[in-house]
Amino acid sequence: MTLSVTILGCSGTYAGPGGACSGYLVQSPSTNLWIDCGAGTFANLQRHIDLADLHGIVCSHSHPDHWLELPVAVNALRYGVGRPNAGIPLVWTAATAELFGAVSGRPPEPTFASRVVDETARVTIGDIDVSFSRTDHPVETLAVRADHDGHAIAYTADTGNDWSLSSLGSGIDIALVEATLDDPTPGIQHLTGSQAGSQAQQAGVATLVLTHLAPGSDPEARSAEAATAFDGPIAVAEIDRTYTT
Ligand SMILES: [Zn+2]
Ligand SMILES: [Zn+2]
Repeated sequence: MTLSVTILGCSGTYAGPGGACSGYLVQSPSTNLWIDCGAGTFANLQRHIDLADLHGIVCSHSHPDHWLELPVAVNALRYGVGRPNAGIPLVWTAATAELFGAVSGRPPEPTFASRVVDETARVTIGDIDVSFSRTDHPVETLAVRADHDGHAIAYTADTGNDWSLSSLGSGIDIALVEATLDDPTPGIQHLTGSQAGSQAQQAGVATLVLTHLAPGSDPEARSAEAATAFDGPIAVAEIDRTYTT
């Protein structure tokens, strides 16, 4: 059975008009997994699944464009849709958990069943196996790999080029690779289009989806840059688009 990813938001660092920050819905036939909860993605999530069918959440890191919907999502998941008492599995870094407490003023339970992880963790949510790799970014940031029945989707989260997508292993069908920058910028731990393409090429991924482009970026130019380094099909993430393994 296949694995798919639907883009809920893909703007890098902040969202432009009509956009949303990072968020992805990874789905097997029986599991719905929300990866990254950037501003604007919770509304978009509800276009694709009933909230009662949300099986788990993974947050890559503590930068606000990747998790700040969570304190708001509690309002719906705890008070709006009458969830059962069992919390929704929520997997995140220690810093993200700490910031959630500071912002929301309450613990994640009972809405969520929180689990703080680092890159060594292996997590199973429904029938999707999740693994991680620590990227090149100023805070602890976890790239995410989702596996189901021989299919794999990888997501770099945010990273500079001193990290390798290959660290998530081989056999990746679809890689969501950040491509924030127009040009390499010393001290800024993000990727350009050509670096994103090179990362995908070296990791041997089948399909590259560029994401986390900064608002105002030219998607066609970014795609063309990636194509100088990657031989396979390339897409630039768009909200509500679904990519299937
Ligand atoms: Zn970001
Ligand atoms: Zn970041």
